[in-house]
Amino acid sequence: MKRIFKLGVMGGTFNPIHLGHLVAAETIRDEFKLDEVLFVPSGKPPHKDNDEIASPEHRWMMTLLATASNEFFSASAIEIERGGESYTRDTLLQLREIYGKDTEMFFITGADAIVEISTWHKTEDLPKLAKFIAASRPGYKLAWEKIDPRFRKSTYLVEVPALAISSTEIRRRVREGKTIKYLVPEAVEKYIYKNHLYQPKT
Ligand code: ATP
Ligand code: MG
Repeated sequence: MKRIFKLGVMGGTFNPIHLGHLVAAETIRDEFKLDEVLFVPSGKPPHKDNDEIASPEHRWMMTLLATASNEFFSASAIEIERGGESYTRDTLLQLREIYGKDTEMFFITGADAIVEISTWHKTEDLPKLAKFIAASRPGYKLAWEKIDPRFRKSTYLVEVPALAISSTEIRRRVREGKTIKYLVPEAVEKYIYKNHLYQPKT
């Protein structure tokens, strides 16, 4: 029997990527015995106000820097290369092509994001494409009743060590001149300052 490759897919704006993302992905990788976790920074995020968004190139570089030291982590530029708005369905279809049919896909999200899924673009066949794993993000209790019933069967909730970190908070701290040490990997911290990201507009 062919062995099924278990692929975790972590989508996000990663503006910037932080320890909350990394701890959630690593905890889930371990618990679900995933062979690989692929971080996929979005091109143009359809759900975000674009004002404060670092360029796709910067977000891609930070994602690479943050994932490089974990042998199970990798990063994919497919959403950035595709351009336009990034839809999870298109990404999962494209990954199915790339990885082949003997791959089981697990889409990793925070507990906040999974609830939004039913509002996403063309979601009917998403539960057929992947299982969904929601990380219990601090401050968000998973509202099962708010999850589209079609998704409930293929959705798992995993408790991850609580890290009340968000990209919004990191950007705010940089803008206010506060430290972000230990909230993002050191290489990402250095990259942010070197490239003057998230600085107040002058
Ligand atoms: P922003 O504050 O700009 O919305 P974010 O911190 O939510 O950024 P995203 O890039 O939007 O980061 O998140 C990508 C995915 O990671 C989403 O599914 C989100 O729910 C999840 N996530 C973000 N932060 C955490 C965290 N601290 N713990 C668990 N999951 C998280
Ligand atoms: Mg978010």
